[in-house]
Amino acid sequence: MNPTHTDLMVLGSGPGGYAAAFYAADLGKKVIMVERDKALGGVCLNRGCIPSKALLYAAHIINAARESEHRGITFGTPTIDPSKLRTWKQSIVDKLAGGVSQLAKLRGVQVVQGRGYFEDSRTLRVETGEGQQFITYDHAIIAVGSRSAMPKDFDLGNPRIMTSREALEVEDIPESLLVIGGGYIGMELGTVYATLGSKIVLVEALDTILAGADADLVRPVLAYAKKAFKEIRLKTKVSKMATSGKQIKVQFDLDGQKIEELYDRVLVAVGRSPNSQDLGLENTKVSLDQKGFIQVNEQQQTTDPTIYAIGDITGGVMLAHKASKEARIAVEVLCGENSAFTNVTIPAVVFTDPEVAWCGLTEAEAKASGKKIQVPKFPWGASGRAITFDRTDGLTKLIVDPETERILGVGIVGLGAGELIAEGVLAIEMGATAKDLALTVHPHPTLSETLMEAAEVFYGHATHTVTRKKAG
Ligand code: NAD
Repeated sequence: MNPTHTDLMVLGSGPGGYAAAFYAADLGKKVIMVERDKALGGVCLNRGCIPSKALLYAAHIINAARESEHRGITFGTPTIDPSKLRTWKQSIVDKLAGGVSQLAKLRGVQVVQGRGYFEDSRTLRVETGEGQQFITYDHAIIAVGSRSAMPKDFDLGNPRIMTSREALEVEDIPESLLVIGGGYIGMELGTVYATLGSKIVLVEALDTILAGADADLVRPVLAYAKKAFKEIRLKTKVSKMATSGKQIKVQFDLDGQKIEELYDRVLVAVGRSPNSQDLGLENTKVSLDQKGFIQVNEQQQTTDPTIYAIGDITGGVMLAHKASKEARIAVEVLCGENSAFTNVTIPAVVFTDPEVAWCGLTEAEAKASGKKIQVPKFPWGASGRAITFDRTDGLTKLIVDPETERILGVGIVGLGAGELIAEGVLAIEMGATAKDLALTVHPHPTLSETLMEAAEVFYGHATHTVTRKKAG
């Protein structure tokens, strides 16, 4: 069969892949996007960001109803129908995946469904439902993403041991759920299942949950989780798991002691592994690092001149919006523009209750590198808007260069922090100073004012909190 030739072949249709395919098509390229799944959108849309946020929204409604008694509003105990919850969640996913297909069609991006395998640097073989198809291209972008890591010792082939993929299906609401890993997924899905009624024990190998976020931002999340979960065990590792009837027997290493417990289900959330196997990459000049991530330079170029790579498959922080940004850079570079992934501020958001969001330099990073900073903070106890929500457990802080007064980082914890952080990203990208933020009129009463007031704290004259004047 004659191969089909295209300007650009994109392998993978997640937020990296489809962003690249669409942008290239908008710039006039002939594009073929290859995806092994029936639905477009990748893990984020189908089995990650989107379904988890739908479930977290459902959890938020339950919690908001529960916490309304003191307002004179009481509801009965919620009855939860997991099957209906699943159908609703799936309807959101289907709508969005259908939207991606529609957007591809409208742009003339050809979608080929099947598993792609590189025959050489310029040819992809696709195993489709109808047989093999060969695609040759001028350039390729690999955006095949990652999957949940499942350490060998935990992989018993027992469906009661879940990754986020299975947990998001909410087969049932287990009475007891062990969550291994206190990172993004462990904390977000732990929050969902705790609210749905499971007794959660969360174990984390490190001495903190959400490593990477500053300790003062993590504190309110930990406080909330300590109430919502049965137990959080830091510095704890699971050493062994075994099937025990309809339960899982788990052995822990806790302060040098071995303890055993039974759980109805276990969620393994200990990071993600790259999908770089069985792609035929050995037939190209693409090189992988020791962990199997594709090595790229700042222009998203691999060591094969025709092939670019973006998103989780390239390692680093595994966030959808980073993949989408890298998609734009790869497309611009292959179109001959001088783009590069340098000085790009990538915000992080953990959708716990309360949410945590940060961007740019963290306080911990500044301390570790010895960089001089000032950290004006505005506690949400002083925010009128936070008080109307009864959620004063928030904090907004800026990381400011004391010499130039430039904003180097922003950290927020609190209800809706994820929606607020973009202003911080813009401030950093624009090279804004604390003065710029302080002089920008923010609408009252909103949580966004906490960013302005944090900047005012830097100068010692925030309206709603009393601070000492900035030295000098
Ligand atoms: P993670 O890297 O965020 O957290 C994994 C945690 O597990 C770490 O804290 C680690 O110390 C701990 N751990 C590792 N091995 C352990 C063991 N044997 N016992 C106990 N603890 C152990 O990984 P994740 O939560 O699996 O999420 C994967 C990736 O998915 C994240 O890196 C993130 O980029 C992405 N993600 C993002 C979002 C979001 O943007 N809101 C949400 C979910 C996932």
